[in-house]
Amino acid sequence: MSTFKEMGLKPELLTAIEELGYENPTPIQKLALPKVLESKKDLIAFAQTGTGKTAAFSLPILNQIDPSKEGIKCIILSPTRELGIQITEDIKNYSKHIRGLKVVPVYGGAPIDQQLRQLKNGCDIVVGTPGRTLDLINRKRLHLDSVEWLVLDEADEMLSMGFAEDLDAILDTTPSDKQTLLFSATMPPDMVKLSRKYMTDPVEISAGSKQEANANVHHVYYKIHSRDRYAALKRAVDVNPDIYGIVFCRTRAETKDVAEQLSEDGYNTDAIHGDLSQAQRDTVMGRFRNRQLQLLIATDVAARGLDVQDITHVINYKLPDEDAVYVHRSGRTGRASKEGQSISLLTSNEISKLKYLERKIGRKFEQIEIPGGKEICEKQLLNLISNIIDTEIQSDHIDNFLPQIQEMFDDMTKEELIRKVVSVEFNRFAEYYRNAPDLNANAERGGRDRGRDRDRGRDRGRDRGGNDRGDRRRGRGTDENMTRYFINQGKKDGFDPKTLMGMINANLKGKSPEIGQIEIMKMFSFFEMESGHTEELQRAMKSVEHNGRPVSVEESKPKPSGAGRSERRKRRPSSDGGGGHRGGGGRSHGGGRRRRR
Ligand code: AMP
Repeated sequence: MSTFKEMGLKPELLTAIEELGYENPTPIQKLALPKVLESKKDLIAFAQTGTGKTAAFSLPILNQIDPSKEGIKCIILSPTRELGIQITEDIKNYSKHIRGLKVVPVYGGAPIDQQLRQLKNGCDIVVGTPGRTLDLINRKRLHLDSVEWLVLDEADEMLSMGFAEDLDAILDTTPSDKQTLLFSATMPPDMVKLSRKYMTDPVEISAGSKQEANANVHHVYYKIHSRDRYAALKRAVDVNPDIYGIVFCRTRAETKDVAEQLSEDGYNTDAIHGDLSQAQRDTVMGRFRNRQLQLLIATDVAARGLDVQDITHVINYKLPDEDAVYVHRSGRTGRASKEGQSISLLTSNEISKLKYLERKIGRKFEQIEIPGGKEICEKQLLNLISNIIDTEIQSDHIDNFLPQIQEMFDDMTKEELIRKVVSVEFNRFAEYYRNAPDLNANAERGGRDRGRDRDRGRDRGRDRGGNDRGDRRRGRGTDENMTRYFINQGKKDGFDPKTLMGMINANLKGKSPEIGQIEIMKMFSFFEMESGHTEELQRAMKSVEHNGRPVSVEESKPKPSGAGRSERRKRRPSSDGGGGHRGGGGRSHGGGRRRRR
């Protein structure tokens, strides 16, 4: 029983798992699923975060739960609100094809009203922190008397955080014939006590290995400025002349955009994303498989299950949010005991995510220098020479013309001839990379250099004047190239980062500027957006209302350094219209390779 299907999961769950890109069960899932699917015995599972433990308990419960029955069927207790939210999100993803299934998170530090309302409307699964769960039980708003499954997630953490009494009180309100699943990384004495008191003859399982990335893959990153992302991508490709790779983007619009620019710049590339029909996808995949395409630009969903041999590189144009998605992306290379490289293009903000990702995937990332023009030209030149040496001569075709050709070259020395032949292919690289700036984000670069390696499409929507202003405005705490805005909406208005992103998406149509730091205050908020969009933004927001109030956005002073911590995730609003046609007829950059058809 090595697949989810063989374990007997129902089609609704199998579809959801496939959509998430899970190919095989992790070790803890292999052990836990059959135990929960086939028996009602209590279970103690030793597993850490990152092992796939959430799915290990959620999937078998979801397989059996009957939403048409009254009452709460499952209560999952987690030590922190963050973990609770994560579990809820995971369960929502797993159960999205199960009709009528409702999961409600309850945790402290958030208004209780909404949680009360959700509970009143009925739900099948509650995910709660011990404190808030007990509070709701005491208010008689949460009834656990119909519970069939009780999950204690990270039970050792809950005990070490002092929730022992709360757990006692909560567990006392649950029926005795439920199945209890206890997940923990360790077994401290308190937990032995707890398990003796509340569990009947539990089965123990243990699987320590994490959701690990493929060992043959070398994980590296370039430290970039976000304005240089596309130029850095080109360098990654140009310094690897024999690359046969996949470039992963986060959105369809970005995927189309990158593929379009690379094609214009002369690379053998095409995009695969959700806007293509199945037939179109098959055509692109066919061309990639038989190597007519050297680079495939893909969204995660479109590349799901993609199994192509001998991929040399995976490039993460932007990192995914989910560590499992990163594992999936990087696992496209380094197969069949071949070496592969996964290159991520990261701004300093994005680099801050690496520590967490390293822990989750059990691999280290190495920072490597973005290659300079000289290195790239050398690689390309040597590659060209070795291609010339390896080229098979088609004597039948050429021999007839040889006397004529020889005559034409009569006056040329061998050296001259070599230089000319090489120049035919190589001049474009030499020209493109002449005086190419250092793109490494820690390198100092003069203003004149800065725009040089930047490419057209990437700058769409960012006016160059705005850039200068962005530079002047650049605050010690505000990212370079970002402008900080004040918006007259705050927590009091039910405003949150999601609402803000939604507002920008809906109103800044066809544009997809990057959004930086978002700080939601009580009465108002601040956010950063790629510079050069102030007028459009203010125009777009003019007629917008939120919570019955007109929205007003103003440029604000840059955030002073060290002032408060807030969400530092960089994100790009998912834009539907973002991939529109770029005005044609612009100059074409040299650097790209010629199409080899
Ligand atoms: P967890 O230990 O539950 O925090 O899971 C760690 C990560 O592994 C999460 O991002 C899950 O989405 C992912 N994951 C769980 N099960 C699988 C699987 N069978 N295959 C791939 N990824 C998985």
